[in-house]
Amino acid sequence: MPIYEYRCEDCAKDSSILVRSPKTAAAPQCEHCGSAKVSRKISAVARKRSVGDVVGEYGSDLGGGSIRDPRQVGHWVEKRFEQFGVDLPKSTRDLIDSARDGVLPPELDI
Ligand SMILES: [Zn+2]
Repeated sequence: MPIYEYRCEDCAKDSSILVRSPKTAAAPQCEHCGSAKVSRKISAVARKRSVGDVVGEYGSDLGGGSIRDPRQVGHWVEKRFEQFGVDLPKSTRDLIDSARDGVLPPELDI
């Protein structure tokens, strides 16, 4: 599910709204003040991201213990891509599959 960024015209705060259905998308509300006067932001979320972009932004997560478990590597990547509403590129899919077979890609071999 895509996440859209909205800017509130009443309180000028940003809201990240997870769009579950076309109905939700048609009537977004500010998550801070409840105003319906929000406008869609053209944000970075909408553009196609590479694995490098995602890892770059969430790189600090790589220091966690869970990433050392090959099965968790795949889960982490899948979760990030799901969060951005982006399909996994085939190269990434292959990488996760091999990680699950116990072959860690060099850049994650920490
Ligand atoms: Zn507001």
